[in-house]
Amino acid sequence: MSEPLLFEKSRHGRRGYTLPELDVPRSALPEPWLRRQPAALPEMSEPEVVRHFVRLSTLNFHIDRGFYPLGSCTMKYNPKVNERLAALPGWTSLHPLEPERAVQGALRLMYELQELLKEITGMQAVSLQPAAGSQGELTGLLLFRRYHERQGRLRRKILIPDSAHGTNPASVRIAGYEVVNIRSHENGLTDLEDLRRHLDEDVAGFMLTNPNTLGLFERQILEIERLVHGVGGLLYMDGANLNALLGIVRPGDMGFDVVHINLHKTFSTPHGGGGPGSGPVAVGERLRDFLPKPEVRRDGDRYWLDWGNRQSIGKVHTFWGHFGMFVRAYVYIRMHGPEGLRRVSEHAILNANYLLHRLRPYYEAPYPGPVMHECVLSGTRQKAHGVRTLDIAKRILDYGFHAPTIYFPLIVPEALMIEPTETESKETLDAFVEAMIQIAHEAETRPELLRTAPHTTPVRRLDDAYAARHINVRFEETPEIVSSR
Ligand SMILES: *Cc1c(COP(=O)(O)O)cnc(C)c1O
Repeated sequence: MSEPLLFEKSRHGRRGYTLPELDVPRSALPEPWLRRQPAALPEMSEPEVVRHFVRLSTLNFHIDRGFYPLGSCTMKYNPKVNERLAALPGWTSLHPLEPERAVQGALRLMYELQELLKEITGMQAVSLQPAAGSQGELTGLLLFRRYHERQGRLRRKILIPDSAHGTNPASVRIAGYEVVNIRSHENGLTDLEDLRRHLDEDVAGFMLTNPNTLGLFERQILEIERLVHGVGGLLYMDGANLNALLGIVRPGDMGFDVVHINLHKTFSTPHGGGGPGSGPVAVGERLRDFLPKPEVRRDGDRYWLDWGNRQSIGKVHTFWGHFGMFVRAYVYIRMHGPEGLRRVSEHAILNANYLLHRLRPYYEAPYPGPVMHECVLSGTRQKAHGVRTLDIAKRILDYGFHAPTIYFPLIVPEALMIEPTETESKETLDAFVEAMIQIAHEAETRPELLRTAPHTTPVRRLDDAYAARHINVRFEETPEIVSSR
């Protein structure tokens, strides 16, 4: 299953193309600039090149290959129409330094996307700049800082539930705040007693994911809003799970002051494999004066970039953000319309509850639901047979599925966090369930099979930590190619 580099497969003189005879004078370029030797490029036939890339595309798992129930990450199918429209030459040949009058269409798309996100979130204003959810978090927290500075009170602490995504405490620290953990109640929601205990005049805000990372909707949100605003704090919504709320409930109506939106999760722009994300922030009345600049504005039928805001926290990204992602998200939102978006969330919720219901007899389910768009199981029953959740996850690969998220949220031992998304058919969900049931059976009867999994993937069990600690991404020039000239 190994696939050599193009440079290794290269054979001198092999061609994948022919060029027409030169019809311009040969020596257009001054002598000193001409190559003395041909460039060391791979020489291959067209079918070899095509096969190389097709093979590579199947070595890794991706959403176009199979079911990808990676909890919290919302690996939904990305419609191809998004790609087609984002690839229109009018978009791809844009340069960010072109004058406003030459890029009215692009500014209009950004403006309209802002308006759509305002409507969907129920907030007052939007900045599209942040490059990912985590940068949206940092942006939101910097808005908190600016707000409190303007109020003349420097506060030090941000409260975060113990079920939070790891980026939350990281963003809090980078924004210069202290992290204070708030316990979850045994029902998985915020422990209001613990919250009350920690609320004081030094709290800059409470950072909450809703629905939370257990897939549970925070039903006490209006009470939480009253408590946090009551001490002059602000309320941050980690909107990575907005996928569950479209057209059903809005962060603005729940009293949040800021929410970041992961376009690459909720609105089907591609992610995984390090592709660019996009994490716009939407803010309410208290924070709208501090948004990153420039803001995209409209006067009649003219669109323009407003750099004038003196209270702004400044820029958080080069140029205007990841524009290609804006096009994809815009297409997705317009394609679905309000009714369609609501159905997206309803089906995401239905699918998650279906999986939870069918898997509950075989795996521990610490929070029995009903859940929103994802569910959390625990491998503690299987652990009794000497099989860890990591082993279960590796075995799932043998059945042709991507593994769910594991060991997160941290408050669930041996956690398996499953998010099916709305784009999967019942047949796919059933096939996944059958695999999970089979694996639960294997855990009891053939634990060794799980402990040594995966058995059918291009590479077997890898040392997860090694690659991170000994990074090697260097391209070694193969000497034969150079010397064959
Ligand atoms: C994905 C995610 C984030 C971080 O978003 P990125 O775009 O990956 O930076 C934050 N919180 C939650 C709950 C998430 O699922």
